[in-house]
Amino acid sequence: MASDRLGRLIVVSGPSGAGKSTVLRRLLASPPPELVPSVSATTRPPRPGEVDGVDYHFLTPERFEDLRRSDGFLECFQVFGKDHWYGTPRSEVEPRLAEGKWVLLEIDVQGARQVMRDFPDALTIFIQTRDMNELESRLRGRNTETQEHIRRRLERAREEMAAAGEYDYQVVNDDVDRAVREIRTILTSTEKARDV
Ligand code: ADP
Ligand code: 5GP
Repeated sequence: MASDRLGRLIVVSGPSGAGKSTVLRRLLASPPPELVPSVSATTRPPRPGEVDGVDYHFLTPERFEDLRRSDGFLECFQVFGKDHWYGTPRSEVEPRLAEGKWVLLEIDVQGARQVMRDFPDALTIFIQTRDMNELESRLRGRNTETQEHIRRRLERAREEMAAAGEYDYQVVNDDVDRAVREIRTILTSTEKARDV
């Protein structure tokens, strides 16, 4: 197979509220030509403005469970305690890797660890804020979660921050444009994940 037909897996994680969606949306507005996002599946309800099939595949718990049992996910986890499931459908990833695309997964640390085990050549990037105070104020400012859900996300954020060193690259999102530039440079300069 010619080397330009080989895909790459790009994994992006970071605590909820760090700005992953904001940064990746900006990146995907003018992406490197091979880059395509994987649309995850979730059992959580859509937020206002979120579109089924674009932001997530919003599935019922039953449909998600069916897919999980039939090995339809590359990885899937309950991200915030026992609340909701999130997973990467194989159908989002495998055909695109075969076409030579760079498939972008925005997934939590548990999912990333599984991908690192199964695809050791995946390129991994951790997006974070300068400190926890900034994270908390962004999460509260976004105004999309209840107090209880914010508390749970902050608890989980502390655990996720501790995993930052397991990733190939760490990007501090204190300025969206700068973070996007940094990720663009990482994607176009690294040799890692040329052969997943
Ligand atoms: P995540 O996808 O990591 O959960 P979001 O992209 O939803 O995070 O961002 C959380 C909140 O922080 C949003 O309200 C977003 O507008 C804001 N935000 C994102 N990046 C920055 C930044 N560099 N500076 C200030 N606010 C930001
Ligand atoms: P949100 O509910 O804010 O959209 O996402 C919450 C968290 O779920 C984020 O940390 C995000 O990275 C993670 N997530 C989204 N999709 C997936 C997925 O397919 N797999 C895993 N493991 N985590 C995901």
